[in-house]
Amino acid sequence: MQHAGPRIAAVIGSPVTHSLSPVIHQAAFDSAGVDWVYTAFDIARGSAEEAISAMRVLGLAGLSVTMPHKSDVARLVDRLEPAARALDAVNTVSWDGVELVGSSTDGAGFVASLAEAGVDVTDARVAVIGAGGAARSVIDALGRAGAADITVLNRTQDRAEQAATLSPAASVGIVSDVTRADIVINATSVGMGIEPDGATSADMACDPSLLRAGQIVADLVYHPLETAWMCAAVDIGATTIDGLGMLVHQAALQQERWLGHRPDTAPMRAAAVTELAARRNAPR
Ligand code: NAP
Repeated sequence: MQHAGPRIAAVIGSPVTHSLSPVIHQAAFDSAGVDWVYTAFDIARGSAEEAISAMRVLGLAGLSVTMPHKSDVARLVDRLEPAARALDAVNTVSWDGVELVGSSTDGAGFVASLAEAGVDVTDARVAVIGAGGAARSVIDALGRAGAADITVLNRTQDRAEQAATLSPAASVGIVSDVTRADIVINATSVGMGIEPDGATSADMACDPSLLRAGQIVADLVYHPLETAWMCAAVDIGATTIDGLGMLVHQAALQQERWLGHRPDTAPMRAAAVTELAARRNAPR
């Protein structure tokens, strides 16, 4: 179905109130003069099927998919791209003619954020701290991009073991792998400071004394933009990469699937930085 007026793209998830996706995507559309509107739909757990049906019936042009629907949507689209199939998770739905295609752009977005900072992961030794959804997408993408060695460290060991099956280059690591690595990634939620169990933004993904000068230290946490762990890494002489790069580049890869070209990420990042600053300054 094709409707009159601007094309509509949206994020589906629950909750979606705090999603930065509307701000980031609309900034790209507006700065490029693309006549699209991006909005957010709060879709209750278990209702992804209705949302995907609505996309077909209403002719929505593209969807971003976030928690808790990523796995459900993988079963509802007509075809999956390789990363989405490996992860059994979809963060992007796009049209390929009459078919709905499910993709996972998070990991590739992370690799793109490293490339933007001049970091090539080919043949790199990487330590990934964490084994949740974000870590899994990063491990899969690092493997596809040719990382030589991906060691996975996680609080819960069996989740580390599962995540390490995503790439032939991956294995469960030990603490000293952090020091040995060329690139160290925090893919846990530690440092966000909004954990229900009393954690604070001063918490760190690993003891910073394990880091060393010359390393690339990337944090997937983007709120705060500079985590305590990143600040400690800078003091040690490491080069840091914040989590906003991944967020922006995964969105750019979504738009590439919807529009057929990758947008300029500069206005997307600028809009996200402005929004995060506004939220930080908003009265609680
Ligand atoms: P998730 O699936 O819930 O996984 C959470 C991970 O954090 C697990 O590895 C968990 O370990 C670990 N963890 C949580 N609390 C911990 C603690 N107190 N000590 C040690 N480990 C702890 O979450 P996710 O979706 O992977 O997200 C992880 C982080 O990445 C979040 O901060 C999220 O905002 C961020 N993220 C960023 C982007 C981006 O574009 N930059 C995209 C996605 C996610 P266990 O397995 O032991 O529970």
